[in-house]
Amino acid sequence: MANGGLASGWPIARIFGITIRLHVSWIVIFVLLTFSLGTQIIPMSNLADGGSWWKGDQILNRVHAQYPWMESEQVFRFVGVDRWSAGEVWMLAVIGTLGLFVCVVAHELSHSIVAHGAGISVEGITLFVFGGVSRLRQEAHTPGVEFKVAIAGPVMSLLLGGACAGMYYGLGDWLPAQARTLLYYFLFINVALFIFNLLPGFPLDGGRVLRAALWALLRDVRRATAIASACGRALAGFLISVGVLQIYWTRSLDLGALWWIILGLFLWSAAGAGYRQLALHEALAGVTVGDVIQKDVVAVPPDLSLDKLVDEYFYRYRFHSFPVLDAGRLVGTVSLRDVQAVPRVDWALRTVREAMQEIGENSVVRPQEDLESVLRKMVEGGRGHLPVVDGGRLVGVVTRHDLLALLQIRTDLGGRAPPRPPV
Ligand SMILES: [Zn+2]
Repeated sequence: MANGGLASGWPIARIFGITIRLHVSWIVIFVLLTFSLGTQIIPMSNLADGGSWWKGDQILNRVHAQYPWMESEQVFRFVGVDRWSAGEVWMLAVIGTLGLFVCVVAHELSHSIVAHGAGISVEGITLFVFGGVSRLRQEAHTPGVEFKVAIAGPVMSLLLGGACAGMYYGLGDWLPAQARTLLYYFLFINVALFIFNLLPGFPLDGGRVLRAALWALLRDVRRATAIASACGRALAGFLISVGVLQIYWTRSLDLGALWWIILGLFLWSAAGAGYRQLALHEALAGVTVGDVIQKDVVAVPPDLSLDKLVDEYFYRYRFHSFPVLDAGRLVGTVSLRDVQAVPRVDWALRTVREAMQEIGENSVVRPQEDLESVLRKMVEGGRGHLPVVDGGRLVGVVTRHDLLALLQIRTDLGGRAPPRPPV
């Protein structure tokens, strides 16, 4: 998913050259999960002597059916299990939450490494409230690659789940109950990650596997994506109705029910976004900067004062930004926003050089560059204009306006890209 919001987040680690970022929404899941582990799951596993938490729940219900007055302290003594201290319980809760984080990272790394191996450049991994997402710079070029990248994550979750199951059932008797509790929890997490991600709705992994299969079968990536996206929406609708029905039946605003609704809404919008992205990809395919470049470009000198820049350039040409040329070399760009950041009283004293944005890899484009990459630079940098540079020399500008106009024409003509050699 190319989601602008998810490109942000704190970089927390770099593994195999892939940057892992933490989106601010991850804090929500960290707090909720640690709380539910500390208050429910760990104490119930404790009661089941390191077994599953629902077994602990059953034990508690059975005891309470007979002795409803019994307090939890007495239940533990009655069952004959040592009760863990609050410190121990919360420590296990935090380890459990961090362990989920490691399992999700392993799942996403698996996608990213396979994608990287197939020649797809990986921007990074972002962890957010619904888990993780691998941000890939391109889509897979063949159904085979799409399948391998999509299945890599669930395979990793299955292997991790298998390893936890092996240790839990194989070594269980030798391990302390605390370790068995965590192992069982990680087994559950990985199996859940495996099953949920394989649900056949795009853009979940299962939806991508479905798209790869349809793509190979129909030999039409657009139709395959349309069908897989429709399945994604159906799945989203199902999750939303499960949540709504649960609230209706229980007559309470249960957190779990709300969770299904929010997850469903997220999946709904992601399914549509994935399809639109493909349509955009097709509409922009085969067109380069050279096809939309504007060659008569008005540049400004770096020593010009800001009040002159406003009077003689912004008012006169009505562009939103200008390239800054110093002795024929491009040194930066100056936009209306950069000027606004300087107090008006200082405009006569300050120069363009002091207000401009310096040139970086993501603020210029080359004539051969494809328009998808141009669009990404515009969106990520919040820019409407990008200077076109050839060998350090300014040769023109490309504007968002021209790009959208071209997109409009191609969409009106049926969204078909010019014929390309088969891949
Ligand atoms: Zn996945």
